[in-house]
Amino acid sequence: MDLPRIFTIRESSHRIHNPLTANKYAALGESLRLSPGTRVLDLASGSGEMLCTWARDLGFTGTGVDISTMFTQQARDRAIELGVVDRVEFIHGDAAGYVAKQRVDVAACIGATWIGDGVPGAIELLDRSLRPGGMMLIGEPYWRRTPPDEQTAEDFSASAFADLLGLPDLLGQFQDLGYDVVEMMLADQDSWDRYTAAQWLTMRRWLDENPDDELAPQVREELATEPVRYVRGIREYLGWGVFALMKR
Ligand code: SAH
Repeated sequence: MDLPRIFTIRESSHRIHNPLTANKYAALGESLRLSPGTRVLDLASGSGEMLCTWARDLGFTGTGVDISTMFTQQARDRAIELGVVDRVEFIHGDAAGYVAKQRVDVAACIGATWIGDGVPGAIELLDRSLRPGGMMLIGEPYWRRTPPDEQTAEDFSASAFADLLGLPDLLGQFQDLGYDVVEMMLADQDSWDRYTAAQWLTMRRWLDENPDDELAPQVREELATEPVRYVRGIREYLGWGVFALMKR
């Protein structure tokens, strides 16, 4: 049970595996106005940057669950580095169906709603771990603008982005599911670059060091094509945000 290796090759140098920056995560944590001791469950916690920095800066405690052995190890190392091992715990495992033994104050799924087969299922899953009156955090992409040209639309329709909503419809979906949207933190083009452009140097260095790896041809091909595809498509048209929700 592990994340396919291509992802860890692209993102081995990332602490945050989504288009938010450290500053945006810090501002998001503060914006929630929660007290020290707040208990967080983070499903698909990646390398644990959100939990570790919020534990250090805001006094939160928490558990992260992620399917990647490499990212989970990075999360544990980060907890040691930031001096928060007594406040956070990282479990290697499948987060689909994961329910906390004790209900938490904040339940999050940032950039992995597929663990619930989409937004409604992810919300249902998180709700099973959340105390009444608690806060949910969902990280999800949306259309910032609709692609106007055929080539870009084609690139997207062949991708995981085919079924996305626009931002008003995404917020409407949260509301239709019975939730108030109480805060949000959105990516911008610069923070998208920190996520995506930062992968190119990681890939290039990995290629230089691993020319004979079985994935080298795929990584070479991606490095040759992805930068142009990214600036033509994702960077112009795709939005991404974390939305804080409270049940009505
Ligand atoms: N929330 C983190 C990671 C987002 S990237 C952050 O914002 O940095 C998506 C993450 O989902 C990856 O870390 C990947 O390993 C994890 N993942 C994918 N499928 C999963 C599953 N079934 N169970 C747990 N984690 C999963």
